[in-house]
Amino acid sequence: MALMAQHSRESVTIRPGVEMPDWSAVASPRAEEALAAIVKLFRFADGFAEYSAAEDLVRRTLIALYGKSGVAPSAVEIAMAARLEQGQTEAALDALSRRDLVVLDEESGAVKGAYPFTERDTGHRVRLGSAVLNAMCAVDALGTGAMFARDCEIDSSCRQCGAMIRVTTAGDGERLASVAPESAMVWNGIYYEGQAATSLCTVIAFFCSPAHSELWLEGRDNSDGYPLTMGEALEVGKAIFRPVFSAT
Ligand SMILES: [Zn+2]
Repeated sequence: MALMAQHSRESVTIRPGVEMPDWSAVASPRAEEALAAIVKLFRFADGFAEYSAAEDLVRRTLIALYGKSGVAPSAVEIAMAARLEQGQTEAALDALSRRDLVVLDEESGAVKGAYPFTERDTGHRVRLGSAVLNAMCAVDALGTGAMFARDCEIDSSCRQCGAMIRVTTAGDGERLASVAPESAMVWNGIYYEGQAATSLCTVIAFFCSPAHSELWLEGRDNSDGYPLTMGEALEVGKAIFRPVFSAT
């Protein structure tokens, strides 16, 4: 019998009855391994310690506004939509930034990103209705549809050769509708330093084929991670982002 690593399905309650990550989204062993590695890396239990209802409301409002317009909302817009005071909103944004759930501009304090989205041109474009967003990484792009319970189209490129990669979803983001080219996959690298946007997210990318992810890895110091089929990467994305708007 083959030895298989047993991972405890660790999670943290982010609002009554809602666990992060949502392990029910994961069916394949490799997606389970990759997700367990991400959970360990981020230490979700610490990251969400004393996560307040105000922070949760600000995070959900921010991501909802982002998804509608395709642009990071201002603290004023978030405060108005969430019916919170400006000061309360800004304090929650600061707290979310310390948890690495939101990225703020160091000087102006403006929102520059909120996982799964960023103002940076990452090359991972997600079309959601009329909005086009930059996803932080390949897994974030794939989790976007299920997070909003809407289908989306993802345009990206092979990190090794630049070939175009296109993924569309079905079932309100819950499953893949099409993957082109068919051999396209995701390398789910595991590396974290300070902030996911500038570490983990840079090593979770699309490739046109497993051969090209291997070629890309050859030139790198850190090759820790998991090769995932598009379907496995979708499972990881759903597990991480579905809880954002989940109700009990
Ligand atoms: Zn390629």
